[in-house]
Amino acid sequence: MNQVSCNEVVSTIYQRVKALKEKGKPANYIPELAIVEPSKFGVHIAQLNDANFGIGDFQENFSIQSISKVLSLCLAYRILGEKIWKRVDVEPSGTKFNSLLQLESDNGIPRNPFINAGALVIVDILISELENPKEDVLNFVKSLCPSGNIDYSPKVKASEKSVGYRNFALANFLKSLGNLDNEPNDVLDLYFTICSLETDCETLSEIFLFMANDGIVPHSGEKVFSKSYSKRVNALMQTCGFYDESGEFAFRVGLPGKSGVGGGIVAIYPDKYSIAVWSPGLNAKGNSYKGMKFLEDFTTETEMSIF
Ligand code: GLN
Repeated sequence: MNQVSCNEVVSTIYQRVKALKEKGKPANYIPELAIVEPSKFGVHIAQLNDANFGIGDFQENFSIQSISKVLSLCLAYRILGEKIWKRVDVEPSGTKFNSLLQLESDNGIPRNPFINAGALVIVDILISELENPKEDVLNFVKSLCPSGNIDYSPKVKASEKSVGYRNFALANFLKSLGNLDNEPNDVLDLYFTICSLETDCETLSEIFLFMANDGIVPHSGEKVFSKSYSKRVNALMQTCGFYDESGEFAFRVGLPGKSGVGGGIVAIYPDKYSIAVWSPGLNAKGNSYKGMKFLEDFTTETEMSIF
């Protein structure tokens, strides 16, 4: 898509979606997220041909929450290779992101790496494999966009930890079922830290551009992983990135993507672009209401979806 038409389409849809009365509600189970101004709305598209464009609050930091689960997975997959799939499955769960339901009948193997149980197992792997997990994860993420602005938020981490009863339950359950090598408290501490990553739409879309580029960071040429690994992670985002709304996202938007309860969504169009949207109001399934609406209109009007 050329730059002028892309900018025009993004601006037109942005204004239309911004004007919608319905905007969902910010996550209220994490106190620090509940106080975010619900009218915030930003979009940034990073294209492989360098025709980048942002609008609205696209340079304002927000909590990326579960979007970070893709980045943890990439790092763990790169380190452990195919062995990783012995610890976590690749099937959509059809349940809420923090559900405990399937874990017992699945003998402690989470359905996929993006539900909380799966992400806890991935974090357990990172603790076992990395020398300084917190620093190493942050350095990995920064290496994907060295000019970007990304860091952990101690405030959001503490806020989530103070009320993270379900995640405590999940980690202890996983430990009792034999799928955590480290102590649940250590796993939870790193999990909450990684979920607290904050950045803006501009940096987030740049970070994820390697997923549109067969696993290679476009600006540095660094190979994060192979084309085949990139295909697999994109496939997981497509089938599991939106929990029990993954089918709906594929149906309406038609791109691999990942959401977070901070109201962010990142979506990938392989070989073309990565796009990040942030609007803190969530729908009933915990995904950004306006973010989904924007992306649906964008892929429909540009006819740029993978289907
Ligand atoms: N940190 C959040 C949690 O564990 C992440 C959930 C999400 O973004 N879907 O509940």
